[in-house]
Amino acid sequence: MPQQQEEGAGKRCVVTGGAGFIGSHLCEYLLQRGYQVICMDSLLTGTVANIARLHCERFEFIKHDVTNYIYIDGPVDYVFHLASPASPVDFERLPIQILKVGALGTHKALGLAKAKEARFLLASTSEVYGDPLVHPQSEDYWGNVNPVGIRGVYDEAKRFAEALTMAYHRIHHLDTRIARIFNTYGPRMRVNDGRVVPTFITQALRGEPLTVFGDGRQTRSFCYVADMVEGLYRLMHANVTEPVNLGNPEEMTILEFAHLVRSLTGSRSEIIFKPLPVDDPRIRQPDISRARRLLGWEPRTPLPEGLQRTIDYFRQVLA
Ligand code: UDP
Repeated sequence: MPQQQEEGAGKRCVVTGGAGFIGSHLCEYLLQRGYQVICMDSLLTGTVANIARLHCERFEFIKHDVTNYIYIDGPVDYVFHLASPASPVDFERLPIQILKVGALGTHKALGLAKAKEARFLLASTSEVYGDPLVHPQSEDYWGNVNPVGIRGVYDEAKRFAEALTMAYHRIHHLDTRIARIFNTYGPRMRVNDGRVVPTFITQALRGEPLTVFGDGRQTRSFCYVADMVEGLYRLMHANVTEPVNLGNPEEMTILEFAHLVRSLTGSRSEIIFKPLPVDDPRIRQPDISRARRLLGWEPRTPLPEGLQRTIDYFRQVLA
């Protein structure tokens, strides 16, 4: 057996949201390391196409909405709880589902981990910082969230999920991890998911105008999905209960990003400006000192390289 495969030999993982964008990459990564993987997904925003190539004897897919009781036969060693719609267009379209999966779904996933004495990792988000008043954002910043705004459903669901995870840790002594995931991109993002990476790439490939919201001076920092998955895996295996930021600290404006996508695709699409969505964070950049120190992790994929792979993926999907 190759050395990499021995890591997970005989160990079982549950990945909620396993047919989603990051979830499917995580399932693939775990299989490569020899784990048995139970991928659970309601297919609300995940798709079977994302996991089509993962089928093997160590992989099982269960279609299940984790807001309902989760039943798994046999032992489980690790629960990665990634299930949730996560795109700003979902915040408008699926607000109740988002609140339910963040609250009830996290409760059920924690309950599963407790029953199986498994280690639990919550996929939280940079959205817990809201429209941040501190820059870059480190884990000790408490955030600036509008609880009744459209984005609030996601932000508050994840804030509640973090609080519930810590309560299970403190009261039930569950071994828990909290990852605060910043903007992540790569193959298997949904074409119509509304986020800036798939939107600009598909617009550029189709020769349509790139729709920059606001004046495009808001910033984001984009992390390639393979780096993110490596960070999640390292966090699960590190000894740290406090939240850990995972993301790429390389920050740029959305207008700069539009120009980059245009040049990498060789597109001649024009850039047009549309109204900025309500509560759209003006700046976002992770402080990843904690991840560097405790996980020995930092992103390795340069943006042009990761974007080129993502563009290749979307070229195939659109063809
Ligand atoms: N954005 C944009 N044009 C689009 C989609 C998004 O200018 O067609 C902007 C959006 O307003 C935000 C940034 O790009 O400032 C990143 O948006 P995304 O939806 O990817 O995720 P967010 O970081 O806001 O959660």
